[in-house]
Amino acid sequence: MPKEIMEWGYIGVFFLLPGLIGAWVAYTKGRNPLMWFLLNFCFPPTVMVTIFQRPLRPVDGHYRQCPKCREFSKWRETSCRFCGTELS
Ligand SMILES: [Zn+2]
Repeated sequence: MPKEIMEWGYIGVFFLLPGLIGAWVAYTKGRNPLMWFLLNFCFPPTVMVTIFQRPLRPVDGHYRQCPKCREFSKWRETSCRFCGTELS
């Protein structure tokens, strides 16, 4: 019995956790959380792709898009980190 719990623990840490992190990060970048959950769950290393990819669209509370150069900045930044335009 404890052995089975250990195995489920491994599945949780090495598959479910990357899946959930991937789903959340994908959501903050305006991507489909379910699709990225499945991808990161089946192939945990792809969670790095999820983390480092560009946002797809601005998401309230997470990313703003610069009106001038169309690049994305973190929500808490008040000016574009690429061209310096003020973000509202
Ligand atoms: Zn800009």
